[in-house]
Amino acid sequence: MRISIIGSGYVGLITGACFAQLGNDVTLVDIDKEKVEAINNRISPIYEEGLNELLNQVHIEATSDYHRIIDTDMIFLCVGTPINKSGNMSLRYITKATEQIARVLTDKKDYCLVVVKSTLVPGTTEELLIPTLERSGKKVGGDFGICMSPEFLREGKAVYDFMHPVRVIIGEYDKRSGDMLVNLCNKFNAPILRTGLKTAEMMKLASNTFLATKITFINEIGNICKQLGIDTYEVAKGMGFDERIGSKFLNAGIGFGGSCLPKDLRALVASSRKQGYEPRFLREVLRLNDRQALIPVELLKKHIPLKDATIGLLGLAFKPETDDVRDSRAIRIVQTLLAEGAVVKAYDPLAAENFKRLFPQIQYVTKQEVLKCDAIIIITEWEEFSNLDYKGKIVIDGRRVLKAREARIYEGVCW
Ligand code: NAD
Repeated sequence: MRISIIGSGYVGLITGACFAQLGNDVTLVDIDKEKVEAINNRISPIYEEGLNELLNQVHIEATSDYHRIIDTDMIFLCVGTPINKSGNMSLRYITKATEQIARVLTDKKDYCLVVVKSTLVPGTTEELLIPTLERSGKKVGGDFGICMSPEFLREGKAVYDFMHPVRVIIGEYDKRSGDMLVNLCNKFNAPILRTGLKTAEMMKLASNTFLATKITFINEIGNICKQLGIDTYEVAKGMGFDERIGSKFLNAGIGFGGSCLPKDLRALVASSRKQGYEPRFLREVLRLNDRQALIPVELLKKHIPLKDATIGLLGLAFKPETDDVRDSRAIRIVQTLLAEGAVVKAYDPLAAENFKRLFPQIQYVTKQEVLKCDAIIIITEWEEFSNLDYKGKIVIDGRRVLKAREARIYEGVCW
């Protein structure tokens, strides 16, 4: 199958590399010329376990020229859908990319399938993408097909997750579109669920919103446990045996971040309000998650005055095994520490370069340097933080690193 991928970020690059490994002929399109060059030089612009090795095994080509995809059978749309200033999902990139695909469709002789992987609020494929594609003069259903197949990969485990999905969701415009994508996805040993376009869009948002809510729930239980001197993790262990609850996503701490959960939750809240329904419960999840990031600084203030104190941060990525700092809890913590007049020194094994673009004014140091600071906050649960010598230190632990309990003063956020 000749496959084109529009957008070579986390989702696009993994999708492209994995489909190439499965024997397809893959072309990646991205407007970012540096990214295109890096991919053609077989250097992954992002960190993902196994991705560099994969890029060096497969035949894959990257370009910024949309006309190179004229002979393609399937076009996967994987551009970003961030939140804009007004709190809505920004459709800027997806609109532009769809217009560019439409130009290709105008000159295209044979049928092809457009597959939307980007996360969208319900209705976007039908109300925006299809009309934009039809401006090519071609008709959906006859000249081209369209599916909405949301992506569920976890950053850090993305290659594995792509190759071993727990389910494949195919929202289809018509049977022909769905059949074509089913044919491609049959290689995965996973149940395939065929549904409508809008439902598929909602399945993605509802899944991420549920995960965000589950984290927020256990954080709330954790905040109560902290007051009562109970270890939340023991409580969560007891809860997790119940299969109606499940043991995953019950790690209390400083809340969720990353490129997906906060954004998808905000997008669902905004789109629901537009439809005239006020999603109070979901708004509260967002508010509580914001508040949770401030707890480490509040706890720290009980032990030392922050003005002119040197505070060391362990971890900047939104979670371990990634260099992604989008919506990382570290952002809120650094903002607050700087506002309080503290000097901030930070260490992260992978994400320091990305964080430096957001906060050039703080110092990026080794983990040994962090340990010399007046106090330490653990923000990301990197494995290597379990091997540090915390004796004699003041540590506020946002992620429950057991070894840190040997500190002179130790406070967990929810335990
Ligand atoms: P990203 O920002 O890492 O990558 C998007 C890429 O699209 C960038 O390289 C950008 O240069 C490129 N791009 C923008 N406009 C373009 C255009 N007109 N033509 C070609 N390329 C263009 O985004 P991402 O994290 O890969 O996310 C992509 C989508 O997938 C989003 O909707 C996101 O919500 C969803 N998603 C992300 C994840 C994740 O773990 N990151 C997981 C599931 C779903």
